[in-house]
Amino acid sequence: MGTLLVCPKCGSTEVAVTAEQMFMANTGEHYCHSVKTQDHNAKACCLDCRWEGWRVHLMEISCRIEGAR
Ligand SMILES: [Zn+2]
Repeated sequence: MGTLLVCPKCGSTEVAVTAEQMFMANTGEHYCHSVKTQDHNAKACCLDCRWEGWRVHLMEISCRIEGAR
């Protein structure tokens, strides 16, 4: 059994999360990963219904992995 994240509005699995990185304005040097895709406060959106929110709002459903019994 695995889990999938789904849109809280339409239930679609076509959801995307956003990572944010910071760079030094003057040198372009990488500063830090301020938000990672697995963070609860990563921005999330649904590609099907255009819902937008945060990763923590996504619903988790369990799914059976094909072939595993
Ligand atoms: Zn949706």
